[in-house]
Amino acid sequence: MNYEAVIGLEVHVQLRTRTKMFCACANTFGAPPNTQTCPVCLGLPGALPSPNFEALRLTALTGLMLGGAIAPRCKFDRKNYFYPDVSKNYQISQYDLPICVGGELVLPRENYPKDAQKTVEESRRIRLVRIHLEEDVAKSFHFEAATGVDFNRAGAPLMEIVTQPDLRSPEEAFAFLSTLRLVLLYGGVSDADMEKGQLRCDCNVSVRPVDQEELGAKVEIKNMNSISGVRRALAHEIERQMDVARNGGRIAQETRRWDEAAGATFGMRSKEMAHDYRYFPEPDLLPVVVDSWIDEVRRAVPELPVARKERLMRRLGVGESNAEVLVADRELADWFEKAAATTKNANGVANFVVNDLLRELGAAGKPLVESPIAPEALGALVDLADAGRISSSQAKEVFAEMFRSGRAADEIVVERGMEQVSDTDAIGKLCDEVLAVNAAMVAQIREGNVKAVGNLVGQVMKRSQGKANPAMVNAALKEKLGI
Ligand code: ADP
Ligand code: MG
Ligand code: ZN
Repeated sequence: MNYEAVIGLEVHVQLRTRTKMFCACANTFGAPPNTQTCPVCLGLPGALPSPNFEALRLTALTGLMLGGAIAPRCKFDRKNYFYPDVSKNYQISQYDLPICVGGELVLPRENYPKDAQKTVEESRRIRLVRIHLEEDVAKSFHFEAATGVDFNRAGAPLMEIVTQPDLRSPEEAFAFLSTLRLVLLYGGVSDADMEKGQLRCDCNVSVRPVDQEELGAKVEIKNMNSISGVRRALAHEIERQMDVARNGGRIAQETRRWDEAAGATFGMRSKEMAHDYRYFPEPDLLPVVVDSWIDEVRRAVPELPVARKERLMRRLGVGESNAEVLVADRELADWFEKAAATTKNANGVANFVVNDLLRELGAAGKPLVESPIAPEALGALVDLADAGRISSSQAKEVFAEMFRSGRAADEIVVERGMEQVSDTDAIGKLCDEVLAVNAAMVAQIREGNVKAVGNLVGQVMKRSQGKANPAMVNAALKEKLGI
């Protein structure tokens, strides 16, 4: 029998806010342990939470970017459990009234696995169940003889995005997380740095016979903190489940943990041991009413990377691989669009940005904002080349000088006497000179050795010190030779 995998993700995103979710402590990473704390985030008795509006705004923005419905009214709930990293013995989260319901993430076409069993249109859109807001917990550090807890992270605003079980392969889960990460960066919602734990996810996975509608028992792999780790863990877990299924066994619903070094998942707790969190409304916080402030959030929704790529390709004529590189970085794409707006040849600009600008910036160790070349200046260079005033190899040379000195293209062209000769009379004169000293070759060409024209073009170019417009030289020679 053929089996297919069914995957749903619960993604946790640390929001990019100045302060924590319910107190005024800094929301930072990397400070010495337990230095960014106060009675609220330490969970001391009697301390009262006060919600961070920016976190609500960023969560709503994410919901809108992903096409979800923002609830007119939402509330916070207590999720009760005992654990060393939750000093209050509960976490403030949202249970039955999250900020955002529904929505979807469209996967870029090229990331779609070719061997998928469902139709492309059906599965390319990954539906979301909900997006809610909660507080992060502290971080445990296990030492040889003891465990330390750092509360700097406790109370950091954490957004949870829950998908429907719409994913069908580890590759799709990988594409989902990469695409989601880009959306979060586009919205300025999170720095989404997985190495800093700003993007983490729980993977729910089951298998079922391909012709079966009903879902199989799911296994939850907790706390994954790398996108490629998710792909590896899922690939391994799907294999394991399919093996069990094919051998007539039953998959137990349980929570497992991925061990990267061992390259395997291990059981942590079964369904019977599952938590009952005894959720109830947080009595220290009022419900949140979403009113006119949402209009401003709506106006802040940016064009998403997938749509932007399509537009760059369709409207501006940018090649696919260029478009891909450009949209992967919102600032870079913005920079490119500024440059492209000053010229007709958007892809010419894209070529310079993707190949030359990124290479030079990388070599100089400079961020884009410190580019010595302004967007309009690059547009001007592309125009010079398009107008035939300089050749494409000269354009590369001018670019290098622009990057070095920050000067304008036409200034460099004039100073270096580079200007390509496109004057018909001047080119005609050079051609006549070359034809006059190549009588034998001219005779051969007239007898049918047309290829030899290339040699004559080369000689004319040389006489012009590389400045003649090669296409014009070629045409002029052919005309004079009558071929
Ligand atoms: P729980 O109540 O155990 O947290 P939910 O129904 O809330 O389970 O789903 C949590 C996540 O698991 C969601 O992302 C959902 O898409 C996914 N999921 C649910 N059932 C399955 C299944 N049978 N196989 C794979 N993923 C599933
Ligand atoms: Mg869960
Ligand atoms: Zn605090």
